[in-house]
Amino acid sequence: MSIFSKIANGEIPSYKCAEDERFYAFLDINPVALGHTLVIPRQEVDYIFDLDNRTLADLHVFAKRVALALREAVPCTKVGMAVLGLEVPHAHIHLIPLQSEGDMDFRKEKLHLQPEEMQAVADKIYAAFKKL
Ligand code: 5GP
Repeated sequence: MSIFSKIANGEIPSYKCAEDERFYAFLDINPVALGHTLVIPRQEVDYIFDLDNRTLADLHVFAKRVALALREAVPCTKVGMAVLGLEVPHAHIHLIPLQSEGDMDFRKEKLHLQPEEMQAVADKIYAAFKKL
């Protein structure tokens, strides 16, 4: 089982931002920006473009709802979206609150946030998500 599957089914703790029966969203443990969120299908597939069309489309619609909640929780110009998948072999979308282009730079030093800050941001996103 992939590490992200273990996160989605609660075997490994995460800062949960959103979930439904098919998708799960949680904070990236090494964020490039406050509120950096990962959105995954519960279905275990490595490469995002190996997902069937329906799941790929629904993953994006779910990510849209998470992005709307994220923007309420972390005010930003826009929420950026990226897919890399070079580290973890379980398809995922990165959602990143943007003020400038540099906020999407995955090579820069990651933020070191306290657990309480991570929990507070995740709780805000989750609360906003549930209202949508
Ligand atoms: P990618 O596969 O898109 O290149 O990178 C994987 C992303 O997942 C990285 O941004 C990394 O910080 C994040 N990540 C890796 N392992 C964990 C984990 O166990 N928990 C969480 N919350 N994020 C993780």
